[in-house]
Amino acid sequence: MPNSTNLFARAQTVIPGGVNSPVRAFKGVGGTPIFIHKGNGPHLFDVNGNQYIDYVGSWGPLILGHAHPVVIEAIQEAIHRGLGFGAPTEIEVEMAEFITKVMPSIEQIRMVNSGTEAGQSAIRLARGYTQRNKILKFNGCYHGHSDSLLMKGGSGLLTFGIPDSPGVPEEFVRQTLIAPFNDIEAVRTIFKEFGHEIAGVIVEPIAANMNCVLPLPSFLSQLRAICDRYQSLLIFDEVITGFRVGLGGAQALYEVTPDLTCLGKIIGGGLPVGAFGGRREIMEFLSPKGPVYQAGTLSGNPIALTAGLTTLKLLKQLNPYEELAEKTLEFTQELKVLGELYGIPLFAQSVGSLFGIYFTERDSITCYEHVADCNIDQFKQFFHGMLQKGIYLAPSAFEVGFISTAHTNSILDSTLETVERVFKIGLKKNFSELDLLTRNNIF
Ligand SMILES: *Cc1c(COP(=O)(O)O)cnc(C)c1O
Repeated sequence: MPNSTNLFARAQTVIPGGVNSPVRAFKGVGGTPIFIHKGNGPHLFDVNGNQYIDYVGSWGPLILGHAHPVVIEAIQEAIHRGLGFGAPTEIEVEMAEFITKVMPSIEQIRMVNSGTEAGQSAIRLARGYTQRNKILKFNGCYHGHSDSLLMKGGSGLLTFGIPDSPGVPEEFVRQTLIAPFNDIEAVRTIFKEFGHEIAGVIVEPIAANMNCVLPLPSFLSQLRAICDRYQSLLIFDEVITGFRVGLGGAQALYEVTPDLTCLGKIIGGGLPVGAFGGRREIMEFLSPKGPVYQAGTLSGNPIALTAGLTTLKLLKQLNPYEELAEKTLEFTQELKVLGELYGIPLFAQSVGSLFGIYFTERDSITCYEHVADCNIDQFKQFFHGMLQKGIYLAPSAFEVGFISTAHTNSILDSTLETVERVFKIGLKKNFSELDLLTRNNIF
């Protein structure tokens, strides 16, 4: 019988680090990753036969839970007509029509295969359209791993503490300016010096790759105003927030209209899809209509779009957003109560069905520095304690949590009971790999 430990050993021989995306390797928490056999609703089942309540949801796409029957049936029906043609299909038009309707800032949209591609293509388009080279991004925001955007990123980069990556030429990175998230004065200062060279500002309107950091009131609208003043494009990376905090994304929630928007994750319903879109006059700069080149053999793949569009249509029909937001808010409030009860310094916050948990004395978290000075050792113990008791959290203190429509109140209550069991045992201020090896004594 294959189990997680011997599968990981086999994987490490033939796959770098044993994984196809770094955070999966559990480097941020220690120990060995669990290998998944299947998912169903709010649950994951590993190859050893253990069941977990899942708060990762494939890193965001699965807002309807695992293997939603309507989505699975739609895919099963679609595959009989073939897996892809590299020629136009009706579902691409339907998807574009659906998105332009629910996200009015998007007048035209181009499908790609990942969030990384969406970010990379949006940046190229912004540079081509404005005929400027510089991009401004924020410390702790992640926009995929394309060269121009691979600095001061969140997600795996923060977990590993690699602000820059070898292999990215300095010349590329020199075109990328960095400001602290939520610091509008820093943005103003940068624009005073470089404003007329800046093609665009790219931002996660809710920073969800350094745990969960909400924009301060008016941060986004002030960004909009600065971009207008300097004729730079405002690019919202809504790869996580799109269809997550509402059908219209964070731009509808905060009522700020970007020029371009990047989408991913939920838009593929669990299959590999990304997209970028925005104002018609900008999008028409794309080839074949305009001069900015962008292409993809598998872009707009009909099976992937079937999974995505079926998910989006279900979301429109069910309109679960208010209920999800209430449930998630209550969940984070209960977490804080438990922290207080057991004397564990803890802050938690949510927006829509995204939540963040921080082991800290702080009572607000607004930028990367706040996230970085949380007690990571306590998070590690919390993570492993929860995992042993059947709760699968993201294996890093820098990742956001996701709640799906399959997370019923009783699922959330049983999770809180597990939190209480772990807190009762206590979280030491320091934690080592050695503790992990003998963790049965700890938890
Ligand atoms: C996940 C993510 C990306 C990258 O998407 P991939 O599909 O992993 O390439 C880009 N931006 C944000 C905000 C993300 O969360």
